[in-house]
Amino acid sequence: MHVRIRAVLLLKMLPDVQNLIELQHADREILRLKEEIAALPRRVAAIEERLAGTKAILEKAKAAIKTDEAARRKYETAIQDLQQKISKYRDQSLEVKTNEQYKALLHEIQFAEQDIRANEDKILELMVNAEAREKDVKAAEVELKAEMAEIEKEKAEARERTAEDEKQLAEWNAKRGTARAAVNPDLLRQYDRVAKYRGTGLSEVRDHKCMACQVMLRPQTYNEVRAGTQIVVCDSCQRILYYDASKDQVAEPLVAQKRRRARPKFESGQAWYYVASRGGEGEVFIVFINSGRESSRRVYDAATGRQLGDTLLREGEYRLAFPEELGDAIRLNGSWEEAEIDEWATELPMVVLDLLQRDLNLARAETSAGARAEGETVPSEHPAAS
Ligand SMILES: [Zn+2]
Repeated sequence: MHVRIRAVLLLKMLPDVQNLIELQHADREILRLKEEIAALPRRVAAIEERLAGTKAILEKAKAAIKTDEAARRKYETAIQDLQQKISKYRDQSLEVKTNEQYKALLHEIQFAEQDIRANEDKILELMVNAEAREKDVKAAEVELKAEMAEIEKEKAEARERTAEDEKQLAEWNAKRGTARAAVNPDLLRQYDRVAKYRGTGLSEVRDHKCMACQVMLRPQTYNEVRAGTQIVVCDSCQRILYYDASKDQVAEPLVAQKRRRARPKFESGQAWYYVASRGGEGEVFIVFINSGRESSRRVYDAATGRQLGDTLLREGEYRLAFPEELGDAIRLNGSWEEAEIDEWATELPMVVLDLLQRDLNLARAETSAGARAEGETVPSEHPAAS
């Protein structure tokens, strides 16, 4: 009898799913590149806006200088007018007849002189201000020059980056086309339909959850996704689900426990087996339970955990009652209360299925390591084993 070492049950992935993963990767890259290409002109536009702001500040500073210069000319004209007035008063004062008239003229002259000083003060103030105004203009000019240089640099970078992005975009579009052509058309429609409304059409399953919508999967759905033998869709978000054992935490203990597989106990009233091919049912797990003079048999699909057929009762201890099942079977660890097994009803809980599959992998690893003689798939510690 030869024990076949088959591909590890947990690592299977459908080719369609692999192509969908490629497709999703391409879709994401294409989206990212398109967004980046669209964002570059916006960055340039933002700098141009800043540039316009600096230009406005410069214009305002220059306009303020012009306003000051006009004001200064106005004050200078006023001073000239006042000086003419004073000289006119002085001429008049030579011709006055009375003391009162003379005093009145002197007053006028004093007023005019006061006015002149006031205008001169204002001119001085403008001259002091003019230094600050010049500084403002210089600063704005320097800023403008720096921004002009920066914008040229940004524009050049944006052109370069856009060209590189366009190149990558073409490459990803080609990869996308290849991936799409390789996927079953119905499945592709499902992917496209969900992607249109939800952004993505594919979701990884990790820690029993759909990672896209974060909803816990029903045990049966989870088992089906892990088995990787059929296409499974998330009940909640409709995304196509896939499982990557290398990324899921539950895969870790599998490696850690590799060297510490317990030997199945044969004295126990319960025995679990794996059968690689059982008629038309393919891979199955079988549990036998001895109870008094009877024994029972339950058969479960090894990939999904669903019970196949009804629970069967026969007279006698299971090895005598069901000898036809044990020929090619691999004995596994595992023991649960019969009441608990009854509660599972038609489907193994995910944790149970995990444990059985894990133990199966360890058993196979032991077998392939040559720890046992070929064909001796059922250990024989039990004294009553015949
Ligand atoms: Zn989901």
